[in-house]
Amino acid sequence: MDELVSLCKRRGFIFQSSEIYGGLQGLYDYGPLGVELKNNLKAAWWRAMVYERDDVEGLDAAILTHNKVLRYSGHEATFTDPLVDCRTCKSRWRADHLTEQKCPKCGGTDLTEPRPFNLMFKTTVGPVDDANSYAYLRPETAQAIFTNFRHVLDSTSRKLPFGIAQIGKAFRNEITPRNFIFRVREFEQMELEFFVAPGTDEEWHQRWVEERLDWWARQGVDPNNLQLYRVPADELAHYSKATFDVMYRFPHGVEELEGIANRTDFDLGSHTKNQAEYNLTAKVLANTDSNAKLAMQDPDTKAWQVPYVIEPSAGVDRGVLAVLNESYRVEQLDNGTERTVLGFEPHLAPIKVAVLPLKRNHDGIMAKAKEIKQTLQALGIGRMLFEDTGNIGKGYRRHDEVGTPLCVTVDFDTIEKDDTVTVRDRDTMKQQRVAVAELTDYVKDYFK
Ligand code: ATP
Repeated sequence: MDELVSLCKRRGFIFQSSEIYGGLQGLYDYGPLGVELKNNLKAAWWRAMVYERDDVEGLDAAILTHNKVLRYSGHEATFTDPLVDCRTCKSRWRADHLTEQKCPKCGGTDLTEPRPFNLMFKTTVGPVDDANSYAYLRPETAQAIFTNFRHVLDSTSRKLPFGIAQIGKAFRNEITPRNFIFRVREFEQMELEFFVAPGTDEEWHQRWVEERLDWWARQGVDPNNLQLYRVPADELAHYSKATFDVMYRFPHGVEELEGIANRTDFDLGSHTKNQAEYNLTAKVLANTDSNAKLAMQDPDTKAWQVPYVIEPSAGVDRGVLAVLNESYRVEQLDNGTERTVLGFEPHLAPIKVAVLPLKRNHDGIMAKAKEIKQTLQALGIGRMLFEDTGNIGKGYRRHDEVGTPLCVTVDFDTIEKDDTVTVRDRDTMKQQRVAVAELTDYVKDYFK
């Protein structure tokens, strides 16, 4: 983990947030390469969930959330972790994370009894701070999918089964944020709420578990480093009938990367008007005063029913950490030196191709390299980089370390002799001459 954290800072992937003022615990900022990696991971999820399927719509809802949404969803009452205080050094811990009844900081055994600590961040909306003007920073993106269910249905005429996908920020006031970007207070989630007819939920749950394991493998995550964990009944979230956690072998241990829950008819049932009219199987926590009918008509029996929902919910930041961990390798080379490589899948690499001019103060070479960079950029594959640091060997090493799959070097032969460039491959380190006229096809083929 230390090596990854240091590489991430040195090469501009991830920085501690507000570091110049001592940092704020549990918050990180993504730098020039981190933002590309994160965007690429999110784009891969969106492609797989929305574009490549014919049964999912997208959504991008507000982060600030009406207090009633999180009241009727059950989060006000139950979204808590057990908190204990160490009376000796005054530090605070999550009771369920302590391996023994001892303070991990000072070793003291004088701990308070665990008490529930609500993880939601509360804030005031508007200039008047009264009892009803508060809102929450959403603790999961899912609720806005449920509250927009009717709008999406009415505007798209979807029939069951269908899903609504959303990627966005979520906030949890974690008691002990730790392990770099694994457990943070502000993070992003990629969530799909997949609505199905009651009775077909268990089958869909299985299907989504398989789909999601397959997707992680396509992001370069070795299936041997993934495990499925069936959450025991007494640890299930209040909305869940069954949950499978996709566990990943992170540098600090095996922990949850994604949760795939069968949320039954709990959520739509909690927010629908006239709850009593439906045979809800889930026990809702309160009678909502919402004005929306979150039910659909069975096409055969014409009876109104509240759909069940299967939810694959993945953390973007945990995904970035997993992908970084999977890609990181240090290779011993024949000449006795070593190189560090981030062997990202090409679609995830922050920089796709780096174009390097052999000489920085040679007008012809510089102009040609810039032109090639712009031509490659227009392919729409991702970020191409023009980099005129001059030392090609060092450039290759630097790009190995940030996972750039291809480097293109423009030299004297390019402009004086045969209009070819050197293309150097990150993984094989092989170099070959490619005609500039064929370069776009070469690059397109590589990233296909
Ligand atoms: P944990 O048990 O690790 O606290 P959780 O079960 O509360 O996680 P979920 O509510 O299932 O998490 O959230 C779905 C996903 O959101 C998780 O699988 C994880 O990838 C991500 N996630 C949740 N909490 C955090 C956090 N504090 N920091 C980063 N990612 C998080």
